[in-house]
Amino acid sequence: MAVKTAKVVMFMGVGKAFQMFEYPVPTKIEPGAILMKTRLATICGSDMHTWRGDRPFPVPSVMGHEFVGEIVEMGKEVDRDTAGKSLSVGDRIILDYLWSCGICYYCKQKQLPMKCLKLYKYGHVKSDVAPYFHGGCGEYVYVRPGTKVFKVPEDMADAEAAPLMCAAATITGTLDRVGLEFQDKVVVFGAGMIGLNAIAMTKGWGAAKVIAIDIVDQRLEAAKKFGADVVINSKELNNDELIKEVRDLTGGFGPDLVMECTGTPGTILLGVRMLRVGGRLANVGSIHPGGEVALDASEVTLKILTITGLHNYDAKHLGWALEYVYATRSKYPWKEIVGPFFPLTVDGVTGAFKALQERTAIRPAIVGR
Ligand SMILES: [Zn+2]
Ligand SMILES: [Zn+2]
Repeated sequence: MAVKTAKVVMFMGVGKAFQMFEYPVPTKIEPGAILMKTRLATICGSDMHTWRGDRPFPVPSVMGHEFVGEIVEMGKEVDRDTAGKSLSVGDRIILDYLWSCGICYYCKQKQLPMKCLKLYKYGHVKSDVAPYFHGGCGEYVYVRPGTKVFKVPEDMADAEAAPLMCAAATITGTLDRVGLEFQDKVVVFGAGMIGLNAIAMTKGWGAAKVIAIDIVDQRLEAAKKFGADVVINSKELNNDELIKEVRDLTGGFGPDLVMECTGTPGTILLGVRMLRVGGRLANVGSIHPGGEVALDASEVTLKILTITGLHNYDAKHLGWALEYVYATRSKYPWKEIVGPFFPLTVDGVTGAFKALQERTAIRPAIVGR
């Protein structure tokens, strides 16, 4: 019998064109593993940074760590998802794309599985080795044993489900670490996909006021749709003017919580300056090296500030994200910010990355079938 093959589109290195490859579809599914057929993959800002060369990355690799797919085959021992729901062939699933070993120092002793010493990240793996299907930009994904899987409710759209895997779970994870207090006044820097999640989630979980700051009007329009009470285009404002405007909007004291979702290092300084005494800053945007800033350290001390970082997330955060987005899908236009939709071809994947770089899309997507 002829071996069935399927395609992946691989990142070959900075400045090089994507390339398509055909690899044999796995036929032996290990106990605990799942073979899924990709339906939709969304391209994350971090993928774009990799493509641009902002951080080291293994090549060649099948990128894409936000995707939703259908179960084609399940290994023995798989019958329920991480939330306890039954699983069968044909069900749609999303994954905690951060596979962790469960027994190392960070997994076991420090409750930081997202920093597991043997961490395997779907969409971040050298992919010219079996089982080849390591990320969202392929027709299949081989889900290795031990991956935390969540079943997608039948009435949830693919476009609502795929971005949960990174953008939404990163924000639930961040709020878990930094803490959101009832009636907090929140500033969100950046109204891209991560920022829109931060806006919707802080607003929905009890913030009194959410102020969104960006330099792109179209993104600020989206911020309003996701619950921002006030939007500020900071393009024409100098730092002092922006800080004054935020102070005026927060009773003269400054915000309780600043969420940095742009990845622009200087925004941290702005956040530190505008926070009230005792305020907290969550830094989730800076994901590649080189973002040095000259911080007046005394400001952190004298204002009793807390600065919290988060990279990756824990499975429970994906579960929370799924529940929240599912519950609010008639309130916020989650699926409208996904697109345009590109085919799984070299041109399609290239087009999706360009759309993100040129900021003509918030979450471009690749259709897997
Ligand atoms: Zn571990
Ligand atoms: Zn991501």
